Amino acid sequence: MTSAQPDGWTPAHDEALIASVDMIGRTGARQLQFGFANDSAETVAEADWWASAYYRGARIMVQHETDALAAVAGLVRKLLQGAYCKCGRVVTLYEHWATVGNKEVLHGRGFWSKQEQVNAGSCRWSRRGARWESSCDADPIPIPGR
Ligand SMILES: [Zn+2]
Repeated sequence: MTSAQPDGWTPAHDEALIASVDMIGRTGARQLQFGFANDSAETVAEADWWASAYYRGARIMVQHETDALAAVAGLVRKLLQGAYCKCGRVVTLYEHWATVGNKEVLHGRGFWSKQEQVNAGSCRWSRRGARWESSCDADPIPIPGR
């Protein structure tokens, strides 16, 4: 895994990776790491990719992804889903929260019922090119040092 760009890597992959790494930084997460667990894998997809970062003192991790990009994107989903947007609503990556049902974990605040989710309101986030963006037009929260 020393080559800079694996076979099949395109500028769209670059955008997705840039967006994910940027978004992880914007959440305040630190020490992003990713790698693979299966040293004897013969293909990238078999390598059992993982990604992790520290968020508010806790290590957040995704495992068993098919490549580095999927692992890092998985970490973004884990960090974003259920976080609070700058508009004060809860971030969702899905068009309809109903699809999430009662299974969503809101960053240490436990499980929310569908009604609690509806009451809280949600702000849909999606990736546009090389940047994850909210669907609201609330002013960005200034981040010290930027
Ligand atoms: Zn918002």
